[in-house]
Amino acid sequence: MSDKVRVRFAPSPTGPLHIGGVRTALYNYLFAKKHGGTFILRIEDTDQVRYVEGAEKYIQEALHWFGLHYDEGPEIGGEYGPYRQSERKNLYSKYAEQLINSGHAYYAFDSEEELDAMREREKAKGNHSPKYDHAIRQSMKNSLTLSPEETQQYLDKGENITVRLLIPTDEKITFEDQVRGEVTFSSNELDDKVIIKKDGMPTYHLANIVDDHSMAITHVIRGEEWLSSTAHHVLMYRFFEWSPPKFAHLPLILKPSGKGKLSKRDGAKFGFPVFPLQWDATEESYLGFREFGFMPEAVLNFLVLLGWNPGDDQEMFDLKTMADLFSLERIVKSGARFDFEKAKWFNQQYIMKASSRDVLPVVKAKFAAEGYVDLDDDFFVAAINLLNERVELLDEFFLKGRFLIETPTEYDQKTFNKKWDNANSQHFAAIYDGLESIAEWKEENISHSVKDYIQSNDLKFGAILPIIRILISGTMKGPDLFPSLELLGKERVLQRWNAGLVTLLANNETSE
Ligand code: GLU
Repeated sequence: MSDKVRVRFAPSPTGPLHIGGVRTALYNYLFAKKHGGTFILRIEDTDQVRYVEGAEKYIQEALHWFGLHYDEGPEIGGEYGPYRQSERKNLYSKYAEQLINSGHAYYAFDSEEELDAMREREKAKGNHSPKYDHAIRQSMKNSLTLSPEETQQYLDKGENITVRLLIPTDEKITFEDQVRGEVTFSSNELDDKVIIKKDGMPTYHLANIVDDHSMAITHVIRGEEWLSSTAHHVLMYRFFEWSPPKFAHLPLILKPSGKGKLSKRDGAKFGFPVFPLQWDATEESYLGFREFGFMPEAVLNFLVLLGWNPGDDQEMFDLKTMADLFSLERIVKSGARFDFEKAKWFNQQYIMKASSRDVLPVVKAKFAAEGYVDLDDDFFVAAINLLNERVELLDEFFLKGRFLIETPTEYDQKTFNKKWDNANSQHFAAIYDGLESIAEWKEENISHSVKDYIQSNDLKFGAILPIIRILISGTMKGPDLFPSLELLGKERVLQRWNAGLVTLLANNETSE
């Protein structure tokens, strides 16, 4: 095996890719980049029952959105292809045969009913998690208990044929995990896993290690849920006399409470995304981080810290920096809590850092989706510059910027009532006249005109500016006042001023 790092992201296309899967892909990608290695996408689609149409495309689109480009994979190919297990299926049976011939695997012919009956029998004896293992296999219908002739008869009949691994008894299986250190399993805890199913397809276990070996994978970096399978995998490497790759098992991503694994139900429950992109290929549909208004760079930055840290306080990294700093030694063992507020904080940082041109396409698309199609790019650039320190999610450019094109229909009457003083009416009229007479409608001129008036008449900013804000935008929440006024244009400001005052004063009187 060459020393060149080769890692793979090996998702099963059984639904939308969970955000934990994206983190696995990211860590593999970073590890490959750090070592000048190769990052591979392999689609593990041997389980026909769980296969979901559209899932592979989704996985590819998600990786693409994040810029996690793979060097080898379906569609793009590579020296070790094909990269979909369903297209490699002829490869696996010869390896299963090899294990049978070397005495490390055997045929089993038990029907579903017979397997169920075995489980019932065991439960009745007080064995609560019965499995097909060293204690049970002797009482089942397999090539270890049947004579060679009987075995041949079952093979000829062609029904219920599976191949199972023959797990040795009373052995310690030990391997070095790059994250957890030495991990040991007793072989007596392991079941005789099926490696070829009744439909002739390999199971995950066989296909996974045959492919890791034949694709010259050097490091297997995957989620903690695969840790216990690794004992089986290590045994299989031994049976084949192949040297195993190095293993690194990533910590779980936990619910916001820190209790238990983050699930798709948590997303629905707490109103945050757990998938990268929108999914609607099945009856279930979900919005993704993208549709929530996240920038892909921000999501990656958030994810890289769920289970890894650079060893100091640095928090913001682009992909290149992450790859430079990344190491398996700094991956933590304990689960990482999913904190949506932190995800939004990262997004806000990235929005502030981005140039208005970078976010323009997304913002423009959002306005267009809401029916605002005739706006030019200069408007968007100005609006983005005005709002970019106040938004956490890209959608908020629309929510907080709509007032720039849409006259308010609702007003913060309560604040208006609190701030309004009839004695100031004449001042508002004078400020209005001042604005009307501005020749060049620029932020500085608008701000001078208003502020000079306030100061020279001994008025309080707090008595005047909030009112102007409500007249123009309907609310107290919003971007800086004077640049907003410039962007709105003189005509619109004066018109909103008049219309707003009429409505607000009418409601002010009725409330008195
Ligand atoms: N197909 C497995 C999954 O869906 C891959 C596990 C592994 O990386 O070995 O996660």
